[in-house]
Amino acid sequence: MKLGIVGLPNVGKSTLFNSLTKAGAESANYPFCTIDPNVGVVAVPDERLKLLADLYDSQKVTPAVIEFVDIAGLVKGASKGEGLGNQFLANIREVDAIVHVVRCFEDSNVIHVDGNVDPARDIETINLELIFSDIEILERRIAKTSKVARNDKAAAKELEFQQRLKDYLEEGRLAIGFETKDDDEAAWLPTYNLLTYKPVIYAANVAESDLADDGASNPYVAKVREIAKNEHSEVFVICAQIEQEIAELDDDEKKMFLEDLGLEESGLEKLIKASYSLLGLISYLTAGETETRAWTIIKGTKAPGAAGKIHSDFERGFIRAEVVNYQDLLDCGSLAAAKEKGLVGLEGKEYVVKDGDVILFRFNV
Ligand code: GDP
Repeated sequence: MKLGIVGLPNVGKSTLFNSLTKAGAESANYPFCTIDPNVGVVAVPDERLKLLADLYDSQKVTPAVIEFVDIAGLVKGASKGEGLGNQFLANIREVDAIVHVVRCFEDSNVIHVDGNVDPARDIETINLELIFSDIEILERRIAKTSKVARNDKAAAKELEFQQRLKDYLEEGRLAIGFETKDDDEAAWLPTYNLLTYKPVIYAANVAESDLADDGASNPYVAKVREIAKNEHSEVFVICAQIEQEIAELDDDEKKMFLEDLGLEESGLEKLIKASYSLLGLISYLTAGETETRAWTIIKGTKAPGAAGKIHSDFERGFIRAEVVNYQDLLDCGSLAAAKEKGLVGLEGKEYVVKDGDVILFRFNV
């Protein structure tokens, strides 16, 4: 899974990105962390992994990961090619979801590109660039579809849909809010890979003093929440500056620091949870002496698809899956004991994998 961090200049994107990747680099030693300074790989915190690894005495523990891309440079006029704008827009096209950082903190030392703090205006500025870029994409599609629509009924129908979608975007709205009329339209829409069709998580970047009540008394945060509600997006409140400090600490220090602030979890953990919930993601686990590992899948994935995350051969040669719930396995103390109690299921191709399933795949090579 790949998340792109966007937002106007000086809202705290780099500060957030650095804190995320710093925290991530410490919890998991991924060699590809440093290939690109704008891409960071972060481990998904999962307490189940350690306990499971202890049970199996595993040599290695591998958490699920999320990739973050720092997409700086999205400014007013980006869709017109200003400030390398088009390149940044192309980067956004490759991510699964967008983390949109919005400045909700006052600080006279940090200049705002538009003079003052105003989340509604800032969000609109960024969204308009994304919308302009989508309109351009749709115009190209429409030109192509027009060529075949005269002699092709399906193409004619799609052309009408594309035009209606373009009109909708031209009203300054996001593709994700567009209501499709039938199955054809619902199938076409995701294939255009529109920027404004991607799920959005708003990161309301607040001052340290706003953290304890989760931004409840900050009117800027209220504005962000209102906008997000209309768009069915998620919001999470963060202080990027504090996150950067937290990322420097070891686990014990971190816990104390968070307690002092009246918080239970770091912004990184909040962000990962928000992404999982927004994208409908869950984790299943594999365990053994060599390795205990978490794998991310979309809710509703069937056993062969989940096996394919490990290796395409596992999906192709899938026979069945031996499945036990994580808690059941832990309570029983071993797979054999869980089997005796009838808690291990032998599941076929139609089995829908659940969060916390510990799975052993049987397959043909
Ligand atoms: P970017 O241009 O969006 O990447 O913004 P930066 O991360 O470079 O931040 C711009 C400035 O704002 C830097 O001087 C940061 O130290 C400062 N900054 C970032 N987050 C916060 C915050 O939560 N509170 C305050 N007061 N300043 C912040």
